[in-house]
Amino acid sequence: MQSQLSLWATKGVYGHFKEVSDSLIPPWLHVDDAVTASMSRIIGALPEEVAVMETLTANLHLLMASFYRPSQKRYKIIMESKAFPSDHFAVESHIKHHDLDPTNAMVLLESPTCNTLPLLPTSYILETIDAHAESTAIILLPGVQFYTGQYFDIPRITTHAQSKGVAVGWDLAHAVGNVPLKLHDWSVDFAVWCNYKYMNSGPGAIGGLFIHEKHACSIDSPMRPTTTNGDIMQRSGAFRHRLAGWWGSEKSSRFAMTNQFIPIPGAAGFQLSNPSVLDLSAVMASLSVFDRTTMDRLRAKSLRLTGYLELLLTQVEHPPYTIITPRDPAQRGAQLSLRLEACVMDRVLQFLDNEAVIVDERKPDVIRVAPSPLYNSFEDCWRFASIFKKACGMVA
Ligand SMILES: *Cc1c(COP(=O)(O)O)cnc(C)c1O
Repeated sequence: MQSQLSLWATKGVYGHFKEVSDSLIPPWLHVDDAVTASMSRIIGALPEEVAVMETLTANLHLLMASFYRPSQKRYKIIMESKAFPSDHFAVESHIKHHDLDPTNAMVLLESPTCNTLPLLPTSYILETIDAHAESTAIILLPGVQFYTGQYFDIPRITTHAQSKGVAVGWDLAHAVGNVPLKLHDWSVDFAVWCNYKYMNSGPGAIGGLFIHEKHACSIDSPMRPTTTNGDIMQRSGAFRHRLAGWWGSEKSSRFAMTNQFIPIPGAAGFQLSNPSVLDLSAVMASLSVFDRTTMDRLRAKSLRLTGYLELLLTQVEHPPYTIITPRDPAQRGAQLSLRLEACVMDRVLQFLDNEAVIVDERKPDVIRVAPSPLYNSFEDCWRFASIFKKACGMVA
């Protein structure tokens, strides 16, 4: 970060082209490419399928602009009823943008056991896809649900939806850096995420998007397949557009200022603007730590760490809380969401606060505890559990 500031102070705009010897960061013109290799390993993608850019919600809008092309027949979007509000707003606004009515174009998955455990079983998701198969354009789900911590069966849901002609998008806000992902092999159509949760890049950090290689050249491509009489083929997926900006246009001609958009094939072609070098520095610093391990190794530690926390929280008599996160480790990431009995929430939070234990609170009665395998220890889990039990009045 410091070297970038002194580069700006001494070289000004030449920083776009000049190497700095002791920096992680290449000349600014190439700064976006420098993060894609590390980022792509974390989500299981090819580097060309990844762009680190904008924010989660902005990226969702950009990809929906390309993937949501409603027709009379296919116009619905399936998502959770309890989606993160930004995802709900983004989807709702796209539907309205196309002059459609969200009350019938949005199909909201409601947990069948909402009152006890607000989870969404895979079988229920697949049945809902089947029920709306003919009329659905997109299904959008979270990789790991922010409230319950449920880790969805991404490959199974993706394969099933695509077999019915439905495009599949994943919001990976709570999955990236938390669970190993194989977006390329799973053939996911598109995904978006932020880098300020398990990716540790600081509040409001620059986000990311994934678009599968199979779509790399089908969007605004100069090589768009045409029929012999020159008509553009209307084959599904072969005719999509994007909302474009200069940073998505080929680098070789980007500064020629010709107003001819030549999209970079793949995710980089979705970039709009010159990315903030300071923002990218924070993501690079985080990725340089992730580069020292693998997601499989982090996951191995995470399974034990969260399993240990679960053990400490469950091997007790009559706890005044329930774990709403799936008990099957394969269906969750690092997080355990604890639902507290009525009235104890304020007292517990106050107690934890006094002991300098900071957890996330979701009104009215849930706290989220997520031992992060990159920097949390078994001792942290033990310490949390013993203070939490005191806070709940279970031990003196
Ligand atoms: C954190 C989070 C967001 C935040 O979106 P930004 O655009 O980065 O502010 C969106 N969706 C989900 C599911 C999240 O967890």
